[in-house]
Amino acid sequence: MSEATETQRAPVPHQIDVVIVGAGFGGMYMLHRLRGLGLSAIVFDVATGVGGTWYWNRYPGARCDVESMQYSYSFSEELQQEWQWSEVFAGQPEILRYANHVADRLDLRRDMRFETRVIGAVFDEATHRWTVRTDRGDVVSAKYCVMATGCLSAARLPDFPGLDSFKGKTYHTGHWPHEGVDLTGLRVGVVGTGSSAIQAIPVIAGQAAHVTVFQRTPNFSIPSRNQPMPGDYAQSWKDSYPARRAEARFTRNGILANPNDRSAIETPEAERLAVYEQRWASGGTTFMAAFNDLIFNKASNDTAADFVRGKIRAMVKDPVKANLLVPVNHPIGTKRICVDTNYYLTYNSPNVDLVDVRGAPIEAVTPDGLRVGGKDYTFDAIVFATGFDAMTGALTRMGIVGRAGEALADKWEAGPRTYLGLMTAGFPNMFMITGPGSPSVLSNMMVSIEQHVDWVADCLGHMTHRQLACIEATLPAENAWVQHVNEVADTTLYPSAASWYMGANIPGKPRVFMPYIGGVGAYRRRCDEIAANGYEGFQLAGPAAIAEAAE
Ligand code: NAP
Repeated sequence: MSEATETQRAPVPHQIDVVIVGAGFGGMYMLHRLRGLGLSAIVFDVATGVGGTWYWNRYPGARCDVESMQYSYSFSEELQQEWQWSEVFAGQPEILRYANHVADRLDLRRDMRFETRVIGAVFDEATHRWTVRTDRGDVVSAKYCVMATGCLSAARLPDFPGLDSFKGKTYHTGHWPHEGVDLTGLRVGVVGTGSSAIQAIPVIAGQAAHVTVFQRTPNFSIPSRNQPMPGDYAQSWKDSYPARRAEARFTRNGILANPNDRSAIETPEAERLAVYEQRWASGGTTFMAAFNDLIFNKASNDTAADFVRGKIRAMVKDPVKANLLVPVNHPIGTKRICVDTNYYLTYNSPNVDLVDVRGAPIEAVTPDGLRVGGKDYTFDAIVFATGFDAMTGALTRMGIVGRAGEALADKWEAGPRTYLGLMTAGFPNMFMITGPGSPSVLSNMMVSIEQHVDWVADCLGHMTHRQLACIEATLPAENAWVQHVNEVADTTLYPSAASWYMGANIPGKPRVFMPYIGGVGAYRRRCDEIAANGYEGFQLAGPAAIAEAAE
């Protein structure tokens, strides 16, 4: 079955065990696990079908930068054996087909309601239930809420004056039209040079008459070396999937990357360069696993950054463009490293220009294009690859209200506060999948999604079995976890970059390092330990205790 379109929806139950928000990979697996526990659940998503981030990000060149054999569900041996990936790094259409295949295979859609945005989730202290409201008028009372809303789902368009005055078409990479966009022969402006732009620009440049890229911060990008999936490579994974998946779960970022356990700075220069050359030749984000101290030691990081800078200069013929494209304001890897196909080489095309907007920011969108530094640029279309209100945006915009009428947006005004990125104090029975304070965006999302969903499902299984009715993170546990997340971040170079990990891409957003950088293996062990110790740091209560507290 292809992607579903559901303007006519099946009825929505008024009472349910669990409301799941989001039909991406997190929400899909959560629903599957809850069914296995015999709990009733419904999934809401504003999209017309499953897929989450892979539903929305249909921009030209959109592709995962984790290898296909690793960016897929591991919970079902049948699923991982039957699906055939056509490329080493799958493109967006194939990942979306995979999501639809899983939805069909597990018959997920009957408990999903699409084209439905959750506009409020309010906790009632008297009944200990969540009242969830949608923009289609649904009102559902649920025992539990699971926010599987994604870390990069709240697309962000900067507040440029005159945005509505532009006579041509504007697009955001995170909301790309489903029917596709034909940019053939057009003059196109692209704003941004993050992962999305770096993938899109070479493809857009192949279609458009002329492309002008507006760059505020140059990024480090590694060639993907993507290729059609070699049959023997896929088979070698399938032959040993259980063992490889088990190993990946205890790595630093959930990706088997053959990490080198040596320090860059302590390795003799010739040997070090050979390691970088070898990593560059094999391509992908695993470049950062070339040495064990690249994210901890500035001198080590400089060796990797200089190597990539040299590669950029060697690829880009025009020295003015090359100078602009060489990243200088952050250590390599501290803003999300990008992976590309022919990104730098694209700047050798006569139809591609690069404009630095760091010194002279974009002043306005005009009826004909963009005004920068007093100069007008004329376009038929503008592509905004300007990113997301990452990690917190989808949650704080949803109208979530916990105990004593406290809004989540208010609680997190100075930055997100969670216990393990799974729950936040004052919001009982509300779980987050890959929430802030968990490894999430610093990891293979599939590995982190499965770990969170399994932890939540096991927790709800435990509660059902023990006839418990309420679980809530305690404030001391949350405070200690937030402190730990910050302390671990401060042992790395990450906080030195003005990245979206720090909230730095949104004017006024607090500068807090949001994901947990202690590694998915260590994090998983901690979550398991906490559960084994009777959900240490969480308060669990039965119906009697709740009734008493409500009196
Ligand atoms: P992003 O990394 O936040 O990049 C946004 C870009 O827009 C940056 O270059 C930013 O510049 C620029 N920008 C924002 N506001 C601007 C303004 N007012 N004027 C000029 N430039 C402005 O967003 P993204 O590229 O969509 O990627 C977000 C994340 O999604 C990635 O880091 C990655 O985790 C994920 N992603 C993954 C893949 C993949 O798997 N291959 C692909 C795409 C995205 P500054 O850097 O100066 O803020």
